[in-house]
Amino acid sequence: MYTCAAKSGYNMADKINYYDVLGVGRSASQDEIKSAYRKLAKQYHPDFHPGDAAAAEKFKQINEANETLSDENKRKQYDFELDHPGMGGMGDMGGSGMGDMGGFEDIISSMFGGFGGFGGRQNTQQKSRGADISQTISLSFLDAIKGCSKEISYYRNEPCKSCSGTGAKGGTAFKKCPRCGGSGRVKFQQDTIFGRTIQVGVCTECNGAGKKITERCPDCKGVGYTRKQTVITVNIPAGVDNDSTLRKRGYGMAAANGGETGDLYVYFRIQPHKLLKREDKDLFVTVPISFKTACLGGKILVPGIDDMLELTIPSGTYSGTRFCLKGKGVKTVNGTGNLFVTVEIEVPDRLSREQSKRINEFEDSIELKACSRMNKFANDVSSLYGREIKKQ
Ligand SMILES: [Zn+2]
Ligand SMILES: [Zn+2]
Repeated sequence: MYTCAAKSGYNMADKINYYDVLGVGRSASQDEIKSAYRKLAKQYHPDFHPGDAAAAEKFKQINEANETLSDENKRKQYDFELDHPGMGGMGDMGGSGMGDMGGFEDIISSMFGGFGGFGGRQNTQQKSRGADISQTISLSFLDAIKGCSKEISYYRNEPCKSCSGTGAKGGTAFKKCPRCGGSGRVKFQQDTIFGRTIQVGVCTECNGAGKKITERCPDCKGVGYTRKQTVITVNIPAGVDNDSTLRKRGYGMAAANGGETGDLYVYFRIQPHKLLKREDKDLFVTVPISFKTACLGGKILVPGIDDMLELTIPSGTYSGTRFCLKGKGVKTVNGTGNLFVTVEIEVPDRLSREQSKRINEFEDSIELKACSRMNKFANDVSSLYGREIKKQ
């Protein structure tokens, strides 16, 4: 999925303006273009927007725009076509689509350099890359919060061990490609509005590998991979959520003839908890309390991640009051959340005659003035509607 969108040609009629895409002016310097590109590519990188098609499209446009504007020749031609709409189709740039991939690799490396992920690719040869695979793991609410390891199994094209994915017997039965002489690239002529230019593209004879198989690997019949069930243990860090994605490099589909293996993207489906609700790092729970506790205060137990936690309810607590237990939420790499407890005063479903009588007696003993909200309500009603109301 990191393959550069090296476009072969474009049609101005349905084309977005590359300057607008990068947010730079027509006279922007190469440095300005580079800087705008880096900023936007980082902002819209698919890793930060998993499953977001709009962001993916934007990311594609940004790369297209950069690919054209960062190359002086392509930019000249683009400017010309921008100023002369309707002449589209004259200059089919790029031929087979070999742009200079250097810039794109750079930004990925600088963004993710610390993970050491992108070092293995070669810039000099354009090899095919295996497809990415996605797998969804179902997790219990608590497993997602605490982290766990899960074994998953799936079928994929696995790089052939006998030939190291090259497809050649023993991984060595090669000869230099006669067409490109081993470079993997060939030059070809291209007619553009500026005249005849020389372009460099992938050698179609060897698909850019620079070599040809002289004897096929007997295990994979020369394709470089075998269909296999892959079983791996995925270590899931604490705090993953439904929108988290984990990438396992090299666990996607193998590419033909020794190209780079794709990645495995792991998504999560987290089962709900009976009592706790989660929003990012914070946990929420609603706890019923008795009328007595609401009036007089007291200690109650509320559900936490591992066990019940004690919470002190002050006297005179209204139904719907929310308390915060700091640091009792989800621990993630971005810090720890809180546990928010909302209390609801429970009204008994059934009362005996004796209990009803006592409630009536109790109610009669409470003056309206002692009930601040009801008192204010009665005053507001009196001034707005001119009516006197009692406790109700
Ligand atoms: Zn070749
Ligand atoms: Zn093989």
